[in-house]
Amino acid sequence: MKAEIICIGTEILLGQILNTNQQWLSLKLAELGIDVYYQSAVGDNPGRLARAIKQGLLRSDIVITTGGLGPTVDDITLEAISDALSKRLIYNKKIAGKIKTHFGGQCLNMPPGNLRQAHIPEGAKVLENDVGTAPGFIVDQAGKMLIALPGPPRELDPMFERYAMPYLKKKAKSDWIIKIRTINITGLPESAVDRKVKDLLESPPPVTVGIYAKPALIELKITAKAKNEKAAKVLIDRVDRKITARLKGCIFGRDSETLEGAAGKILAAKHKTLAIAESCTGGRISDRITNVPGSSGYFRMGVVVYSNDAKMSQLCVSPGTIYKYGAVSRQTALEMAKNVREISGADIGLSVTGIAGPGGATKSKPIGLVYIAIAMPEKTIWREFHFRGEREVIKFRSSQAALDLLRRSL
Ligand code: ATP
Ligand code: MG
Repeated sequence: MKAEIICIGTEILLGQILNTNQQWLSLKLAELGIDVYYQSAVGDNPGRLARAIKQGLLRSDIVITTGGLGPTVDDITLEAISDALSKRLIYNKKIAGKIKTHFGGQCLNMPPGNLRQAHIPEGAKVLENDVGTAPGFIVDQAGKMLIALPGPPRELDPMFERYAMPYLKKKAKSDWIIKIRTINITGLPESAVDRKVKDLLESPPPVTVGIYAKPALIELKITAKAKNEKAAKVLIDRVDRKITARLKGCIFGRDSETLEGAAGKILAAKHKTLAIAESCTGGRISDRITNVPGSSGYFRMGVVVYSNDAKMSQLCVSPGTIYKYGAVSRQTALEMAKNVREISGADIGLSVTGIAGPGGATKSKPIGLVYIAIAMPEKTIWREFHFRGEREVIKFRSSQAALDLLRRSL
């Protein structure tokens, strides 16, 4: 089956929002074995949208629209679909009831425009919105299918996964599916990863490997095209084992697993607690650690000691160390890690101090020089890094290196 995606919204055309729905839906359709032949974006204009839908239904079996299902005047998708399909919009009591309950439940006065969302084209199948008020729907007739989904990704994603995907699975009856697994790697440059998996990057279908480099993160994506999920998994597992054998310690997770999640998992499993003292990362590491649900189980405290004064007065780093070696030095990093561990009573103290730039560099201490230290009961370790990039990138790379060192040292 051939599909096409039409994303609706003038703000997409103006570049004010990134069209993530396009990418997300394309990945999901590939998983289902449905070929996407066209992707387009249309502004909030009923005439142009109706024409785009008509054209879509002529050349594709499935047309998926996103956006414009809300209650405001610029939400014109319902009218455009009604026009393109020559179908009346029918008031649906059940949807209206749900919308009223939604507002009642939140003690909000419902704007009258909201009941417009209780209309769907004649004969359409409703797709429940478990998160917001606007339902989606499917019109399926004469071998053509139109699926209308809301714009906000937090509404679209669950609606598509829970209600549209099962329907498509039954209808599309594809001979194949696509499965993708991402292997997340840090601590190695792209060229080194490339060298280690060069032969795999050249593997021919049905299972291919791609390399995607981001700052301090390399993703290897294994993509398999197979008859079903089980067959795809067998193909992917085989390549995964080869990659794992070659890159071992540098792999911190798969798919949506994060470095902070991986470090947190080990801390929790080992019943170890953590405290962090940050300088150049400005709290970024503590922020990432606390993004992980359940981090209160192992994270004791985080301090940002940005100035020399704060390092001395709050963290008891000795003035002698700072004046002799400087705030950005192995000695200061080590004292920060030891002291934050002691003050907090945590098992592990982690510290970062460095120069994020663009100012602050000297001949012997260039921009991107970062020291990371970890104090543990049995030993204290430190590393010196030389990162490249803008201020933000250096901060991120530092947080990535600190979390990776933590994970490895555990
Ligand atoms: P609402 O009830 O929120 O108005 P809607 O179905 O009418 O939902 P739109 O008004 O088109 O959707 O978009 C609402 C918001 O959803 C946008 O401001 C944007 O944040 C997000 N959004 C819409 N389309 C996309 C898209 N293609 N990719 C990513 N985000 C999107
Ligand atoms: Mg809207």
